[in-house]
Amino acid sequence: MKHPRSIDLRTEMSAPFKPARARDASYDLWRLIGDLPQYEIIGGTCAKCGHVGWLDMDMVRKKVGTNLSLSQFQPKLTCQCGNRECNRLMIGTLAR
Ligand SMILES: [Zn+2]
Repeated sequence: MKHPRSIDLRTEMSAPFKPARARDASYDLWRLIGDLPQYEIIGGTCAKCGHVGWLDMDMVRKKVGTNLSLSQFQPKLTCQCGNRECNRLMIGTLAR
C-alpha cells in the first residue's frame, strides 16, 4: 500500500505561471486530477497564514497520479508555515 504523500505549497512545487482567474474548488471536488484541462491548475489558500500557492500540475501528476479526485487531494496540501488544517483548495484558469 502506498502512503499518501503531502503536497507542499512551497516553491519547488509552484506553478511557472500565475493563473489569470481563480475560484474556490468546492464545486469541483468530484473531478479527477487527470480530468483537469491544460489551462486549469490547482492552488491552495492557507487557513492559518493566508499564503496562496499555485501548483505545477506536471509535478502534481508525477507525485499523486491522475486518478485522485480533488476531494482526496485537498487534505494533502501543506502550507509553508506547516499548517495542514482547513486549507482551501482553489482552481486557477491560465490565460490562453
Ligand atoms: Zn500557512
